[in-house]
Amino acid sequence: MESPKRSRLYHAVCRECFLEEVFDSADAADAFVTRHVEETGHTALAERVD
Ligand SMILES: [Zn+2]
Repeated sequence: MESPKRSRLYHAVCRECFLEEVFDSADAADAFVTRHVEETGHTALAERVD
């Protein structure tokens, strides 16, 4: 079950360069990753951080 007080952070990281950033929404993190992948062809992903 979800707790309303639980913070959700999403860590966007690239495996092929030093790109790394933390977002407070999955949409923002996904958009960031998608853009980086399109621009560079790198392998990047966003993962949830508790
Ligand atoms: Zn990269």
